[in-house]
Amino acid sequence: MDFLNYVSDPFGKVREKAEELVVQMTLEEKVRLCSGMDFWHTNGVERLGLKPVMVTDGPHGLRKQAEEADHLGINQSVPATCFPPACASACSFDPKLLELVGEAMGEECRQENVAVLLGPGANIKRHPLCGRNFEYFSEDPLLSGRVAAGLIRGVQSKNVGTSLKHYLANNQEKARLVSDSIIDERALREIYLAGFEIAVKEAQPWTLMCSYNQINGTYASDNKRLMSDIPRGEWGYKGAIMTDWGAMNDRVQAIRAGLDLEMPGPCAENEKLLLDAVAQGRLSEAELDACAARITALLLLAGENATQAYDTDAHDELARRVARESAVLLKLGRALPAAKNAKAAVIGAFAKTPRYQGAGSSKINPHHVTSLCDALDARGLLYIWAAGYETEQSEPNEAMIDAAVKATGDADVIFACVGLPDSYESEGFDRTHLELPACQNALMDALIATGKPVVAIISTGSAVRLPWREKVDSILLLYLAGQNGGSAAADLLYGEANPCGKLAETWPLALEDVPCGENFGHGGNVEYRESIFVGYRYYDKAGKVVAYPFGHGLSYTSFTYSELSVSPLQSGDVGATVRCKVTNTGTRAGAEVVQLYVAPPESAAFKPVRELRAFEKVALKPGESRELVFELGSRAFAYYNPGIADWFVESGKYRIEIGSSSRDIRLTQPMSIQSGQVGEIPDYRTAAPDYYTPEGPAHITRAQFEAVLDRAVKPWRPVRPFTRNSTLGELQTSELGRHITDQVRQGMAAMAGGSDDLNAMFDAMLNDMPLRQLSMMAGPAFAGDNLERLLAQLNAEQ
Ligand code: BGC
Repeated sequence: MDFLNYVSDPFGKVREKAEELVVQMTLEEKVRLCSGMDFWHTNGVERLGLKPVMVTDGPHGLRKQAEEADHLGINQSVPATCFPPACASACSFDPKLLELVGEAMGEECRQENVAVLLGPGANIKRHPLCGRNFEYFSEDPLLSGRVAAGLIRGVQSKNVGTSLKHYLANNQEKARLVSDSIIDERALREIYLAGFEIAVKEAQPWTLMCSYNQINGTYASDNKRLMSDIPRGEWGYKGAIMTDWGAMNDRVQAIRAGLDLEMPGPCAENEKLLLDAVAQGRLSEAELDACAARITALLLLAGENATQAYDTDAHDELARRVARESAVLLKLGRALPAAKNAKAAVIGAFAKTPRYQGAGSSKINPHHVTSLCDALDARGLLYIWAAGYETEQSEPNEAMIDAAVKATGDADVIFACVGLPDSYESEGFDRTHLELPACQNALMDALIATGKPVVAIISTGSAVRLPWREKVDSILLLYLAGQNGGSAAADLLYGEANPCGKLAETWPLALEDVPCGENFGHGGNVEYRESIFVGYRYYDKAGKVVAYPFGHGLSYTSFTYSELSVSPLQSGDVGATVRCKVTNTGTRAGAEVVQLYVAPPESAAFKPVRELRAFEKVALKPGESRELVFELGSRAFAYYNPGIADWFVESGKYRIEIGSSSRDIRLTQPMSIQSGQVGEIPDYRTAAPDYYTPEGPAHITRAQFEAVLDRAVKPWRPVRPFTRNSTLGELQTSELGRHITDQVRQGMAAMAGGSDDLNAMFDAMLNDMPLRQLSMMAGPAFAGDNLERLLAQLNAEQ
């Protein structure tokens, strides 16, 4: 893995002017600039011609709220194109396609006068149950970083900013506002930072958004190492950093850390804290100036934009293309591609009311939605439809199943649309199991029992278990396919297009197989004990059978791989030039994602079996061949060596592997690397031997984890005395605490306005909400001095 075109300073052309303007600002103006004005606007300095700008969600469309504002997808937003969310678009393995999506979203921002689109999200899919996986790209940092970079380049080509989020290690929704992600240095660098690093180096997002959680004991907002030293010091990041909505912990420390902008506003209490800190000499004005200059640069750049209209039809067509080029054909039997004159029974509520995006702050209000049935109608195809289940129900509905089976009576093929209902996946909470609703599995069993070929068409934001997968003819995975996913599905089912998506995450056979086990989905300390063994890095190490491996995806045509050659770099630097040939040996045009993995030599350091280091999607006509050339620099052979605080290449015999998935390696060639680097190898064979055994990484003890972490895990803080970071759950031992919780619950119920989904999200969030966040949900009674008084009262109680 090496970095593609390095983009220099996005604010370069306005930086000097920004610095000049900051010199002219009063202390109050600078402080104000570092806080939001309202829910979606920054402040400006009108006196100096600096206008406030609007920022808005993100990430797979525009969620611009013209009226009532919220950050959880509650109130309506202006219509916009809903592109397939990241869970789908990552499967395109095509950063250029993401760039087109970015351009289109940039145009929508220009029409709506939005300066910064709050996305993309590049968090690693550590666990398939993370409620927000649908907003994230992959379990692999190279793929994640590269597609994120594509999207960022596209948006920013329209002179609209992006906000790469949620930086960092926000890999679960449970207790996301307070939990502490405890991660060893290698995993931090190789897995969790690497995707952000690639996106920053390759695309320079105008902004980064810090996450809510703590990382190794420090809240992201206050974390100087993560906010400044690494991105700015090591990666050359030039943009601004803002908080997630309400993710500010300690405003003064956050300025020192280099966190520029607090959102949302107004932030009167924190502004006062900053003014006092400067007045008392606890914060240097120079540190504030640096933050103010970055925000000024952002406002200057965005201020150049004139409003432009966009073409809704073209964007709808692009949404269809992305869905089409991202869908993954998990299994292929004889029923696909279907003949136009085949008699089809289309079964499933999702065929008429598709699930096409996730819930929460990313929820787009689409211009229109095309279902599979709409797309079949538009083609004039004859089919029979039955719902088979009720979307939000779990228990099998025998009458609906019978009606569905009856509907298949005359059919040649059954298209069964199943997947996760809205209420299963959302920002704010994690899933509790890998299963589809029981009613859908019962329906599938009944359809399979008809003996007719069943094609399963799956809509989900993350991996699910498919108990009937051996018994169906074919499986087409749409993930969440955006507003025009129905057309894309029809294109693929009838062979008007050829599936070419590949899985960006492993689909495990069972929940028990996921390596983080108990160390996920709870509050307090979340120990990332599996270290670097995330996704296929674990499953391959453990030799586990999986349902579908990382990188898997079939096609209606076939590809052969040949002529692998590996040679040292001409420059003489550590690295390799890798060539191979791919040929379309079938009868249809198609596209293949060629994946290059590097397998490391035996080492005293623990290593995965293989790691993705390059990939390319190549479209080929029948009989056509193409030679691909990959240039691998030293980083493709390196791991992070905490002992020398740098990337480290060991000498030894590596293997270059070219494959069609992580489990379908077609060509391999050994390659010797002679590295001049010296340094002690992090050898944990004695202190933490389980990291070296196949099954080990799933069962790491605290002691072995601490050896690799190089420190003891500190116990979670005591419940009392209560602090600004005490959660409502922790307050339940106090009468006043219970009273506050009731008040907040009532406030949230009013916000939810009777919606079951919102109530479920709020219930899940309530317990883990810290006191300092309450002002955002429940107003000034919980801010500043009021909060301090409340704390004093809480702590005075016995
Ligand atoms: C989410 C962010 C989002 C922000 C603004 C937060 O709850 O975590 O992803 O950009 O709200 O809506």
